[in-house]
Amino acid sequence: MVQDLNTIYVSDAVAWEHCSRHAWFVLHTPVVEEIETDSFEKLIKTLGDEHEAEVLARFEISRTAKSVAHTQKLIEARAPVIYQPKFFDAELNLAGVPDFLLLEGENYRVADAKLALSVSGKRAIKAQLATYRRLARSQLPALVFLGDGETVETDLEDDVIGESFVSEMQALRVEDVQPETHYSHTKCSPCQFRYSCVPEFKQADDLTLNPAIQARAADGLRQIGIKTLAALANSEPDKLPDVPYLKGEVRKRRAILQARSLRSGEILKIDDINLPVGDYLHFDIESDPMARAGRGEVYLWGFLIPTPNGAGFKYVWKERDYDTDEQAWSRFLAMVGGFRERFQNPYFVHYSNYERVQIQRYADRYGDQSHEIVQWLLADAGPLLDLRTLVKDAYILPLLSYGLKMICRDPRLVNFQWRLDESGSQWSVVRYYDYLDASNDAAAAEIKAEILTYNEDDVRATHALTQWLESMENET
Ligand code: SF4
Repeated sequence: MVQDLNTIYVSDAVAWEHCSRHAWFVLHTPVVEEIETDSFEKLIKTLGDEHEAEVLARFEISRTAKSVAHTQKLIEARAPVIYQPKFFDAELNLAGVPDFLLLEGENYRVADAKLALSVSGKRAIKAQLATYRRLARSQLPALVFLGDGETVETDLEDDVIGESFVSEMQALRVEDVQPETHYSHTKCSPCQFRYSCVPEFKQADDLTLNPAIQARAADGLRQIGIKTLAALANSEPDKLPDVPYLKGEVRKRRAILQARSLRSGEILKIDDINLPVGDYLHFDIESDPMARAGRGEVYLWGFLIPTPNGAGFKYVWKERDYDTDEQAWSRFLAMVGGFRERFQNPYFVHYSNYERVQIQRYADRYGDQSHEIVQWLLADAGPLLDLRTLVKDAYILPLLSYGLKMICRDPRLVNFQWRLDESGSQWSVVRYYDYLDASNDAAAAEIKAEILTYNEDDVRATHALTQWLESMENET
């Protein structure tokens, strides 16, 4: 197999789905700052390897392919299960190693183990499986062994996605210049190439740094001559023409004010905040997106509650060894029930819709839709209070995103700092797996204490944000 730096690997489909420039970087190996290996990525890799090993163990006999030539020999010998078959198409300079080739009658079927719980909407997975089929010249739909134990067949129509992947990667391979792209906080902030791209976006005063407009709206603005944040900041909402994905005065006004705020660093008030009167219990959950027993299992439900001395941290923790997901959920409902009795007019203050979504999912998972506490929490005028919506409806902030940490850490705004330097939702998941795997109870307790500290700081952050909002309202 003659491969070189320009070889396209089927696994590059992940970068291809993420961003065309990311895919270009993969093919052109840029010089960037040394990057620390991301512990969350490492965890995903470990779990993926474990899942693959579990699937492999289901086959009584399998042969591991050692090379492209060996793969061909195993195919010619009609080996029933070939593990890690290796393929290389010299003409396309394309290499791929699916997890399995399974003999069915006269044909081989490609199969892959994925941690994902579904392939729906997952272009990278579809592109990978379609390209593996192409390399293996398999006519049968591919199989995917999902993370929850289900097995699904891919759609033969996914071949179109596979073809797009290969042809777009080929075009990127011969392109000397980085492809034009746009800033997206969700995509760029965790990306290993952010140190190369983000300064460039800032230098260009790129419109897509504005969280109030989509990339497609930025394209439309450029076509009418508004090419930078500065130009947008100097526009007037009633004079700005509609462009695709930026229509109507309300949205245009927000986009312009957001551009002004980013340029000036000013906080702009657009409406009053009406914080309801009551007892505020700050609420935040930590969940595992890779949990196999369900979807996004919660391992920590944390609260900061009012006490005579200020505020106290309370939580429900899913213990290793003996606790089940359902038991932790039941304790959460009992704890909330206790708060309902204890406080006259409680509000559960959270940031973003995630807490509400998880309560709904858990109620569905355990048939608790008519549970008194669930109905109370999820009622339209119920006690869940999403602070993010309130902030966004009242203020334009000089930020690239309205994430809790962006707002709270900013010294111009809330200026609340988390105690642990290295923390975050992905960090918390990594540490929870460390807790599950800890060799003794003392080590497990230490990790648990770290995660609790992080979660307590999350709820203290929403508390600090609430106080900041109150102070801002009192100023005006
Ligand atoms: S930082 Fe953003 S633009 Fe750059 S490669 Fe990553 S996702 Fe793409």
